[in-house]
Amino acid sequence: MKSAHVISKPSLKVSGYSAAALLRQGARRTPAWPKAWHHHDLERTYDVVVIGGGIHGLATAYYLASRHGITNVAVLDKGYLGGGGSGRNTAIARSNYLTPEGVAFYDRSVKLYENLSAELNYNIMFSQRGHMTLAHNDSALRTMAWRAEVNKVQGVDSRVIGPDEIKKLAPAMDVSTHTRFPILGALYHPPGGIIRHDAVVWGYARAADLYGIHLHQQTEVLGIDTDADRVRTVRTNRGDISTRTVVNCTAGWSSLINDMVGVRAPITTSPLQAAVTEPVKPFLDTVVVSGTLHVYVSQTPRGELVFGASVDPFAQYSMRGTLDFIEGLAGNVLTLMPGLSKMRLLRQWAGLCDMTPDYSPIMGNTEVEGFLVDIGWGTYGFKAGPVSGEQLALLIATGRTPELIRPFGNDRFLSGQLVGEKGAASVGH
Ligand SMILES: Cc1cc2nc3c(=O)[nH]c(=O)nc-3n(C[C@H](O)[C@H](O)[C@H](O)COP(=O)(O)OP(=O)(O)OC[C@H]3O[C@@H](n4cnc5c(N)ncnc54)[C@H](O)[C@@H]3O)c2cc1C
Repeated sequence: MKSAHVISKPSLKVSGYSAAALLRQGARRTPAWPKAWHHHDLERTYDVVVIGGGIHGLATAYYLASRHGITNVAVLDKGYLGGGGSGRNTAIARSNYLTPEGVAFYDRSVKLYENLSAELNYNIMFSQRGHMTLAHNDSALRTMAWRAEVNKVQGVDSRVIGPDEIKKLAPAMDVSTHTRFPILGALYHPPGGIIRHDAVVWGYARAADLYGIHLHQQTEVLGIDTDADRVRTVRTNRGDISTRTVVNCTAGWSSLINDMVGVRAPITTSPLQAAVTEPVKPFLDTVVVSGTLHVYVSQTPRGELVFGASVDPFAQYSMRGTLDFIEGLAGNVLTLMPGLSKMRLLRQWAGLCDMTPDYSPIMGNTEVEGFLVDIGWGTYGFKAGPVSGEQLALLIATGRTPELIRPFGNDRFLSGQLVGEKGAASVGH
């Protein structure tokens, strides 16, 4: 694809993001920091229109510009950047998946994350503190061993550990044998960890803006017109845009956008809730996950404990937290770490997850020419933001589907070649 606005690599060193600038601003009492991204009028034409201003949409736009010089790009969001799952997730990154396709794909993302702070000149606070998935019964232990072997073959650091090592890594955990769900072992994955999710969104947004990409908030896509099965116009609440390439990066809302062009995909949308406690002195150095108890825990650099769980057991678009969720979650957390019984929860929230039958995403071209999808991210899409953006940008720029995303095409649901990752989902669903 040729870009109308090819520009050279901008300096990502915006004033205001260095220690010297911080001192200068303080000394001069300068009232405002430079804006991280700008407001633009909606152009009538763009080479590429990305729908969704979460990590996937922003990363796609950033890699289009930075890797391929395609900058005549608009990212449209009906709300604010990061207002969807990208600003609501529990920010866990890892690559200890179950299928060879999944491991290769997510491992590329971890690698991109490792260098992302430097690349974007924005501290995304990626803390590779290790990730532990507990096994409470023989079949779970067998799956952990299976995953460890698949991981090792692809050079991903994963191994099964026993209760003694678990206790060393997370002393707060009850590894005794007289609990209701004794811990038999765990899949330990040292490169896994947590990231500051907002920083990733803001870092990509700022970098995309510096390349000249237009980020349009409060811009809702109302319809997409096609002509002879080819994308032609995107209709928004701020006017129409003519374009030849549209990318659907709307996660929980993705079926609604697909419906606008008649592309069918086996996606249902369910809320996923999470919660955070008051901050306490650091005591938990790894991410701990229990599929059996439907709960996972990590401690933020500020000291809060972040709790995640399984998706709500029904499909809907509501993002309200519920009391029965928090009651169930508290019980499960205390089964795992009884010492937390005096901690207070600070808040809970929910986001929308676009679930697929095999717990893998749907990426690539569709039967409508110029309409691409990057959807089906369920409960695991934040970690995949960098690799998805990179690979989608490559597809748009070259017209060829990269090997890393080839297994994730929508056509796999017709051919039956599913990429079954349910056994590697963080918690049971
Ligand atoms: C509580 C919770 C915990 C999670 N934990 C993790 C985790 O630990 N690790 C992990 O990897 N993943 C996790 N996830 C999943 C992850 O958050 C998502 O898969 C990921 O953020 C999806 O990113 P996205 O950019 O595709 O979509 P989103 O960030 O959801 O962005 C989609 C955007 O599309 C916009 N949009 C929708 N419709 C329209 C329209 N008509 N016009 C214009 N814009 C529109 C929305 O406003 C939204 O901003 C979690 C999710 C939740 C809810």
